[in-house]
Amino acid sequence: MSLNWRQYYIRKWCLIIFILITFIGFAILSNYISEKYLSFAVLLWMALAGIPLAFRFGACSCPNCGRPIHIKGLFGFPFSPKCLHCGIKIGQKESE
Ligand SMILES: [Zn+2]
Repeated sequence: MSLNWRQYYIRKWCLIIFILITFIGFAILSNYISEKYLSFAVLLWMALAGIPLAFRFGACSCPNCGRPIHIKGLFGFPFSPKCLHCGIKIGQKESE
């Protein structure tokens, strides 16, 4: 596994763990604060943590072509099983 795929998997798991923590955390938090403040807290949390983390995951560069794996032009497809530019599968070695 090349260093870039390793970085890719680390960022992917960080994003998955972030999403789980967000759902569980705000479900617990909803018992203690009112809906008005909860929606503000969700917006603040997503602006400060969610969006930067999603951009960091989306900007993972492909080890084969060096371009962002999940972003092509103005659009991104985070569930793509392969690079949107060169078509290499996620985790596949460059020479295969
Ligand atoms: Zn590529």
